Amino acid sequence: FLSFKLSAIILFQSMIQLFNVTKKYGSASPALDNISLKIEKGEFVYLTGPSGAGKTTVLKILFGWEHFDEGQVLVQGINVSKLDSKNIHTLRRSIGVIFQGYKLLTNKTVFENVAFAQEVTNRDRKTIKFKTWEALKNVGLTSKKDSFPAHLSGGEQQRVAIARAMVNAPPIILADEPTGNLDQEISLEILKLFEELNLNGVTIIFATHSQDILKLGNHRVIVLNRGKVVSS
Ligand code: ADP
Repeated sequence: FLSFKLSAIILFQSMIQLFNVTKKYGSASPALDNISLKIEKGEFVYLTGPSGAGKTTVLKILFGWEHFDEGQVLVQGINVSKLDSKNIHTLRRSIGVIFQGYKLLTNKTVFENVAFAQEVTNRDRKTIKFKTWEALKNVGLTSKKDSFPAHLSGGEQQRVAIARAMVNAPPIILADEPTGNLDQEISLEILKLFEELNLNGVTIIFATHSQDILKLGNHRVIVLNRGKVVSS
């Protein structure tokens, strides 16, 4: 009975929930000021707001990269405020990230960058090769597999980052301004890749301050301003 009850709880739980979360960096006014949010399994949500609104901070908290001062955060039932080394690994295995501060490895080829992301798994070499190839095929980059990141365009580098984020098939992808510095045509291609992943069941949180990107995709929009949720 207990196990039934537990699985029922897991089944009905939202993918991601923030309850009254406050985050301060030093003594400045809070970067996140008592925010609450709920994102369901399989949703595609935009997280928007002006620069400094708190978008990156939300994503970093969800990935366990940044601590917070007050409130509760649940990601797939994992209590992010009480992370020990075991559940931080479980948390991070369930999330693919495309962050500005998480760049491609410059001394590795496209193929090696995507293969490297699987070293934390217990896949054998053959499976790693196969999965890398599949991920590069999904983002249309097999012809660049032996190139180094410096020899790729901005859009291609971003596609490698997406391949790296999806290669371990995480149920959640967090993307921080993944179309920043890309022109509109390439941005639309990148957005389409995320939409395809979402159609395959991946929950996507896509942070952007670009009104153009918001208009290009028909998705729920969470607006932050000065660390508060303005609308969701
Ligand atoms: P956004 O992603 O919407 O631009 P951020 O989450 O990066 O917003 O930043 C929210 C607020 O927190 C800003 O006022 C920013 O200056 C501050 N902030 C972010 N990271 C740090 C940090 N490491 N140290 C101090 N302040 C920070």
